[in-house]
Amino acid sequence: MTNKLSKTYNPKEHEERIYQWWEEQGYFRPEKQVELGLASEDGPRWCITMPPPNVTGALHLGHAMVAAVEDLMTRYYRMKGCQTLYLPGSDHAGIATQNVVERELHKEGLTRHDLGRERFIAKVWEWKDIYHRRITEQTKRLGVSCDWTRERFTLDEGLSHAVRTAFVRLYKKGLVYRGTYLVNWCPRCTSAISDLEVIPEERAGHLWYIRYPIINDDWDGPPPPLPPLEGGAGGGWSSGRWAEGATEFIEMATTRPETILGDTAVAVHPDDSRWRHLIGKTAVLPALGRRIPIIADEVVDPEFGTGAVKVTPAHDPTDNEIGIRHGLEAVNVMTDTAQMNELAGPYAGQDRLECRRSVVADFQKEGLLTKVEPYFHAVGTCERCHTDIEPRISTQWFVRTKPLAEAAMQAVHDGRTVIVPEREEHRFFHWMENIRDWCVSRQLWWGHRIPVWYCDDCSGQTCEMTDPTACAHCGSANIHQDEDVLDTWFSSGLWPFSTLGWPDTDAPDFRRYYPTDVRETAYDILFFWVAREMMLGIELTGQTPYATVYLHGLVRTEEGEKVSKSMEDIDEFDPLNVIEKYGSDALRYTLLTSSTPGLDMNLDSRRLEGARNFTNKMWQAARFVLSNLEDGLTPLASLPASCFLLPDRWILSRLNRLIQSVDHLFETHQYGEAGRQIHDFLWGEYCDWYIEASKVRLYEPSTSSGHREGADKAIPQAVLLHVLETAMRLLHPFMPFVTEAIWQALPTPPQPPPTGEGKGGGEALITARWPETDAALLDEEAEEQMELTMALIRGIRNQRAEYNVIPGKRIPALIAAGDATQLLGMQRAVLCALAKLDNSQLSIQPTIQPPAQVVTIVVGDVVCYLPLVLSEAEGLAALVDLEAERERLASELAKIEARIARSESLLAGEFAQKAPAHVVERERDKLADLKTEQAKLKERLTALE
Ligand SMILES: [Zn+2]
Ligand SMILES: [Zn+2]
Repeated sequence: MTNKLSKTYNPKEHEERIYQWWEEQGYFRPEKQVELGLASEDGPRWCITMPPPNVTGALHLGHAMVAAVEDLMTRYYRMKGCQTLYLPGSDHAGIATQNVVERELHKEGLTRHDLGRERFIAKVWEWKDIYHRRITEQTKRLGVSCDWTRERFTLDEGLSHAVRTAFVRLYKKGLVYRGTYLVNWCPRCTSAISDLEVIPEERAGHLWYIRYPIINDDWDGPPPPLPPLEGGAGGGWSSGRWAEGATEFIEMATTRPETILGDTAVAVHPDDSRWRHLIGKTAVLPALGRRIPIIADEVVDPEFGTGAVKVTPAHDPTDNEIGIRHGLEAVNVMTDTAQMNELAGPYAGQDRLECRRSVVADFQKEGLLTKVEPYFHAVGTCERCHTDIEPRISTQWFVRTKPLAEAAMQAVHDGRTVIVPEREEHRFFHWMENIRDWCVSRQLWWGHRIPVWYCDDCSGQTCEMTDPTACAHCGSANIHQDEDVLDTWFSSGLWPFSTLGWPDTDAPDFRRYYPTDVRETAYDILFFWVAREMMLGIELTGQTPYATVYLHGLVRTEEGEKVSKSMEDIDEFDPLNVIEKYGSDALRYTLLTSSTPGLDMNLDSRRLEGARNFTNKMWQAARFVLSNLEDGLTPLASLPASCFLLPDRWILSRLNRLIQSVDHLFETHQYGEAGRQIHDFLWGEYCDWYIEASKVRLYEPSTSSGHREGADKAIPQAVLLHVLETAMRLLHPFMPFVTEAIWQALPTPPQPPPTGEGKGGGEALITARWPETDAALLDEEAEEQMELTMALIRGIRNQRAEYNVIPGKRIPALIAAGDATQLLGMQRAVLCALAKLDNSQLSIQPTIQPPAQVVTIVVGDVVCYLPLVLSEAEGLAALVDLEAERERLASELAKIEARIARSESLLAGEFAQKAPAHVVERERDKLADLKTEQAKLKERLTALE
């Protein structure tokens, strides 16, 4: 038979070609699966929506991981006969995209304001198209079998309609509201951002200890502040002025002295004996002369600093809450770009850090700075531009999350949505229980503009599905739309249903595929996205958006660094470079088999090399099989079971056990283990043993078997092909390209076309059926017998290596086989071929009296003697060194005895009561075998004495 496979596997020759072919044939489309008879319209279905990558993002290993896991699931369910939809799309990524385009404009010396809102947005769309093409092409390189004809974008018409519908519905139910609160503010992006977009960064800072004078009977405070001096700082100060005459002080520590200017109270813990006597008194805020109360609040930590804290409701979340509890004024002392404003008095116009230095210097001059300590603390920074966040009071739109979070938690409690791994559930609950209202307005232009109009006459709000022309309250035409856009995550939160046609609940895809099956993502995005999809999905559709949340770990480099945006420029781990070097299959296989749900993995170039070698190993195996096939091949199914020899029965049994195990592992999300088992089967059993054993019949047609020559070959040929073909199906979700390339080269369509004419479903592996276990081929006896044969061969090979016997040199052997005499007699040809024994000098008897000069190998109750008495002229080992042989056997015996001791103590302990019966039984059998070996070794040692 002609061999269609080139000498070695080069991924570059196949991957892009195959992907294009799959896509052109429509195999990614669920309709095609029905057309091919692989699935039916009313049968089971399976759906996953691809997490939308940022349209401006470059492909990184995080994407590769997502693609590998999701495509693995998709291919599995497709082959299982589910009508399968893997829906791709991308995200407009509000702040990220706007920043990228603003940077581009900046190169031309322009700002978005120079262009104006409309022209700026048009510019972003131009860039979006460029970026979108790039990210799509890159994503395809990963082999994702998603239906590109259904691709969605968060700003496309359908999704924008979904966003509008969601907002209006929430508005009418009072679940979104406008309010003035403290929000996280990025002074560079000049926008509010959500809690999740704030990245804490450990910083070496300072703790400044300062004191405020207390007003009492002897002293009622300084005169009003002086006007600022010309041109700058410290205008309100003159040495000694603020503390002059004061007899009592309250001392506190702060990491942000510039916010002092917004202080409206000092707080202490009510039980703090150091300060209790001051509660209710008034302190003076130096620099401004503001009189502020000393209050008691449980939230104050007496262990921090001096136990007294300044309260700045406009610039700190905790202080804001204290302020609300005590009715304090919130004094905002900064502009939206973090400059000090007019309320900062003498510091107005300074930048926040400049102001910090001035305030510290002035306090020192006044003798009001008592000490400075180094202090490590976390500073919130903007996820997008890394600028320090400035909490800021501002008017924003919020989603009322409490009722939505309750429903989402209930869904997880009820098991309507299961989180894998389970331990992540605790994090989910903890976060949901402590959730704060979600700030959804952003002061940007790129995104879904908030569909609320304000009336200039009655100041009423109008929020409807269609753009209003008049105020809904007073009918005035003097209305204007909110300038802000919605947080990107608001539209991402609708993804599992907006992409399927919602709000049209009669849309065919929504009816067929919603709720979807899985949300698969990195665990660090659980709250950003999953929690919001759950909340919005349940509220808007009445159903949880998916049955399972599968969280994979983060990918790290060999050195353990998280691969994230900042790592994108590390060439070596750029997925496109990895694919270039090792192939997409190797990357996918490595990501899938090195990871455990929710645990991080290190990407290691040795693993990538190993995976690439594996693709080549499969290729070589396929080449071997193809070159040994003949036309007019007998299909395995038409061969009677009686014609199978031990290696056939063994490999068929192992294959079916593998199918069973892989199915179980897939259903329990243990994908990595499934991949490893398929690898071990193909490499360690099929290639290393079955192919080698099959050569006996393929190359040396046996005369002893009595069959005609051709018939003898037909059996291993059929088994070789069947096992390879089936294993390619199992491996396909992990390594789609090499398996498809091999499968295409196999002779007959290995499955009959399921329906209709032409090549039907048999034309591509991607639409082939997932194998089912054939219980009739499970054969425990064959597995045990083959295991014994292989152990014996391994033992002989080891001793050949030990004694430097020339590879390929056939040697004599005497085997005392006991009960296994007949079995090993039948395996004579295999033993001779694989252990390179001389058939004419091989004796297999129940018992044997060995000659003195032998090497002994014990396997169970089989003892094999190798009389390595070979002449130096033959270039072989000299006489067996009996002393060395005794030492070797003694050390073998010691090892066996250690294993016996371990096994005995295991069986004597809790294990025997607690482990399942069959596991205990297996341990007992193992112990019995070890004892047999021990006896045989002892016997042999005695003989050598
Ligand atoms: Zn920013
Ligand atoms: Zn009005």
